Amino acid sequence: MATINSNFLKLKAGYLFPEIARRVKAYTEANPDKAARIIRCGIGDVTEPLPAAVREAMHVAVDEQGDRATFKGYGPEQGYEFLRQAIVDNQFANLGISADEVFISDGSKCDTGNILDIFGKGNVIAITDPVYPVYVDTNVMAGNTGDADENGAYEGLLYLPCNAENEFVAGVPSEKADLIYLCFPNNPTGAVATRAQLTEWVAYAKKNDAIILFDAAYEAFIQDPEVPHSIYEIEGALDCAIEFRSFSKNGGFTGVRCAYVVIPKSVTGRSDDGTPIPIHQLWSRRHSTKFNGASYPVQKGAAAVFSEEGKKQVSSLINHYMGNAKLLREASIALGLKVFGGVNAPYVWVSCPQGVSSWQMFDKMLQEAQVVITPGSGFGSAGEGYFRISAFNTRENVVEVCRRLKEQMA
Ligand SMILES: *Cc1c(COP(=O)(O)O)cnc(C)c1O
Repeated sequence: MATINSNFLKLKAGYLFPEIARRVKAYTEANPDKAARIIRCGIGDVTEPLPAAVREAMHVAVDEQGDRATFKGYGPEQGYEFLRQAIVDNQFANLGISADEVFISDGSKCDTGNILDIFGKGNVIAITDPVYPVYVDTNVMAGNTGDADENGAYEGLLYLPCNAENEFVAGVPSEKADLIYLCFPNNPTGAVATRAQLTEWVAYAKKNDAIILFDAAYEAFIQDPEVPHSIYEIEGALDCAIEFRSFSKNGGFTGVRCAYVVIPKSVTGRSDDGTPIPIHQLWSRRHSTKFNGASYPVQKGAAAVFSEEGKKQVSSLINHYMGNAKLLREASIALGLKVFGGVNAPYVWVSCPQGVSSWQMFDKMLQEAQVVITPGSGFGSAGEGYFRISAFNTRENVVEVCRRLKEQMA
């Protein structure tokens, strides 16, 4: 019999979103008359249709594929030059990044998981709590952890607690870490790191020869002009950080699939004998061996995000979601709850009323208001006592959710 990767057996079975689905299903089966009233503010998926500029570019690309003269088979594994250059010009101008340091993929979820292929054993891995669960689970699968304890915390990971005191931005630890996952604007808390805070992280990484894995999937939602959009706005980051970006949340590509990772050639790890090796070279090898490139029509669609029309359309999508976030924030504040996020991110992170747990709040919102939220404890034990409301919704639904929240309070 074939042996299996037993690390998978360490993964906790009751994953957050299946458990939410199970509870919603149980509720609707018991209360069929309420089923139509349910509004989902849970999963972080976009709701608004793909921008016209993107669709037009994809239509053209599909037609090119239908003509022998313009048909394209396999493209460059790293992504087409037209897209990599458009990314550099529009997202990283004057930050010292070149197009051959950008790798196009079919999603940041895969990128943040796959990146572990190129790192060795024995790294100290720092992860914030609460956290996007992908970072944790992919480290478990890769064998970088021991077992989970009763709170779901894995042995061997260095957890960086985020809470109301640090406004959900982890400070640098006193311990030495080798790999650090940072996500700003943050999912699930909506927190953003200031320039000063990111400067501390870059200084820490340089001092400890660590690498920062910077997830900027929500960069486009930043409203405050003082908040950095990229880790490369911080001096020294070209030596110690890689950055993940995605078209999922700004361009509405969750169903289209396109993302990229930026790996400056100056970022190094060390080989077994201590020689510094550029990780760019390893990722390039990995990417071209295990990936055959994102689809051509998709890359054409992604490039259209940076056209004049595309930029306007994306900006109106962002304004729509951030308008939702503002309404949800105000409604939660009016309930007398302590509210974080929702200002530079499409997530509002709310403290449950005194003595109410995250899952109790989930059940209460489902049963009394038919609103599905995400329990904070599902993102890590430091998320207990909080819940996340997603601003990814129609305006109509958001207005109705706010109305129901007010009604509950009355
Ligand atoms: C949505 C999201 C992404 C993007 O994932 P894709 O696979 O590109 O859709 C990346 N990181 C975080 C934290 C996210 O919430």
